[in-house]
Amino acid sequence: MVGLIPRNFIDDIISRLDIIDVVSSRIRLKKAGKNYSACCPFHNEKTPSFNVSPDRQFYHCFGCGVSGDALKFVMEFDGLEFIDAIEKIAGDLNIEVPREGNDQKSREPQYRELLSLTQKSADFFEKQLRTSKDKNKAINYLKDRGLSGKAAKFFSIGYAPPGWYNLQNTLAPGEKNNSTNNKTIKQLISCGMIIESDKGHTHDRFRDRVMFPIRNVKGQVIAFGGRVLGDEKPKYLNSPETPIFHKSQELYGLYEARQIRQKLTRMIIVEGYMDVVALAEYGIHYAVATLGTTTSEHHIRRLFKVVPEIIFCFDGDSAGRKAAQRAMETVIPALQDGLQARFLFLPDGEDPDTIVRKEGKEAFEKRLDNAKGFSEFLFDTIKAEVDFDTLDGKARFGKKAGPLIARLPKGLLKEIMTNSLSQETGIDKETLAQLLPEEKERTNRHDSKASTAITQPNAKSKSSLSKPQTNNLAPTTQETAYHAEATDTETAHHHEHQYNIDSEQEIDIDDFIDSENPTLAQANRTPNTKENSKENKQLASMTMKALTLLVKFPESAQHINLLEDFEPEDENERLLCETLKKLKLNPQKDSISLLILWTGSPYADYIKSIANKKLDFTINQDNSEYIQGTLQDLKLRALRREFRSLTDKVRLLSFKGLTAEEKTRFVALPKQLKKHKK
Ligand SMILES: [Zn+2]
Repeated sequence: MVGLIPRNFIDDIISRLDIIDVVSSRIRLKKAGKNYSACCPFHNEKTPSFNVSPDRQFYHCFGCGVSGDALKFVMEFDGLEFIDAIEKIAGDLNIEVPREGNDQKSREPQYRELLSLTQKSADFFEKQLRTSKDKNKAINYLKDRGLSGKAAKFFSIGYAPPGWYNLQNTLAPGEKNNSTNNKTIKQLISCGMIIESDKGHTHDRFRDRVMFPIRNVKGQVIAFGGRVLGDEKPKYLNSPETPIFHKSQELYGLYEARQIRQKLTRMIIVEGYMDVVALAEYGIHYAVATLGTTTSEHHIRRLFKVVPEIIFCFDGDSAGRKAAQRAMETVIPALQDGLQARFLFLPDGEDPDTIVRKEGKEAFEKRLDNAKGFSEFLFDTIKAEVDFDTLDGKARFGKKAGPLIARLPKGLLKEIMTNSLSQETGIDKETLAQLLPEEKERTNRHDSKASTAITQPNAKSKSSLSKPQTNNLAPTTQETAYHAEATDTETAHHHEHQYNIDSEQEIDIDDFIDSENPTLAQANRTPNTKENSKENKQLASMTMKALTLLVKFPESAQHINLLEDFEPEDENERLLCETLKKLKLNPQKDSISLLILWTGSPYADYIKSIANKKLDFTINQDNSEYIQGTLQDLKLRALRREFRSLTDKVRLLSFKGLTAEEKTRFVALPKQLKKHKK
């Protein structure tokens, strides 16, 4: 008989779940401010009222009222019972589910106790940096690298003194591995702090090293990186995989970056912890490092949840180039529209740590600003591999670039790169279409039974570097693209035919690309962000005020008109609209009656807190006028954004490149904008 799943295993697995991962691997989410929205998978609707909050880790549908956490979503969406949902989630995370009563019981991870030991180890190392008789070695090393005590403290950097038993004797005093009294030692082995030899002899893993504690997203110390001070090898030593530390999932510095009270707009991925710390010392608080592994898709997706732009930073040598290429392949499936990946190469022999000390913050940030965009990097890299001036080289170029582009998620970037590829190689669009089969679109389903079948094709793909994608995209492309390398005349002829300047061709590439201005740089063009952020800030504050007024004076709703076709972008906007809707249906005179309308929703507490807040601002308008004005401004911003993105698309693809629906919008928008401006 199968035993019970241990309670602490369930707790742990739930705590590791990120609701955004869970939901976005099942339905397509759109970023809306801090939150994400989608058309509700549990009821039929055309405009999205299903909201997911990464901060609060829950989902809520304003249409049908469903809400819950990540686990509940899996149960409801996949149609699973509790235990089956846990099994499913564990499977997705690649974790075996332990069962009580089986022999696994003895191996059952005791996460909490392990976490307490890694924290105690961190405290011990930090103390040693102040008290050890050998501390000066470590302090001098840090000073040499330009580190201040403040930065060392912020990252909780410590020192593991020389000697084999310092940590062991401190955390497990009096215990012997071969006795019955060895619980702590066993746990220290389990969390990687102590090494056990064949004969059962144990000693500290980290000796005479500067210690960098690695924290998970919650800030708990889960592992360490150690930089050697003596001659020992290796130079950098990391904790091994343990029940609490999974290298491919963690990023050094991510927790710390989020602690700095500044808005993150981009993140840099660097190689080592010293790079992260040095950059932070120089005021660049947005660097993270992978931990002795290559960047995984999991890393990338995690970062894209925090920022829309990732910059990979590499050495300029050939190893760096290779690593960059791997990173490029890994990032492809995650590049939804609106997300950017860029590639920065440092001069030979430099790393971020050395260069930021030499050049300072501004110069380094200038390098970041000039980092290569994704499409530029992809095309340049492949061009460098082929003899692009020959027909044969062009064929190879198409063959290499095609499958990569095919793996991009559907969207503007993919469209643009497909067009560029067509232009660069002279392969007509129809041939390319065969080369690049569309990714099957993921749609939201209303039938929860059937929906288990739609899993995201890319989400679970391990590293795409070692193993070619096994989904339906790339491999077949490679096979059918060109039947053989064009070395003999027969195949060369075949190619000629494909490149064609086929006059009967229906689609003219020039219809898609403004041939005078085909630069890819345009694809990466970002709108004037400074102006936007000012407007956004102002609107956010107005929205908060309007919501407060509405909650405090619900009767003002009666003089306000609801907006049509308006899609809120964040939680407050959403709550403003939804509260208004509720009040229109059920007019209320006071906050308490309004609160009752929100009972049972996860937002009830938030609305209550607003109702209880003291009014700390004044407006020189009637309440309803102010709320109505705010709504108009929100709508105006949405219209302007829509128009801007369509204009961009027209610029890149010409008017013909729009879908029928987009064309109608494009023509109608200027009128609407005019109307709203009044
Ligand atoms: Zn719903």
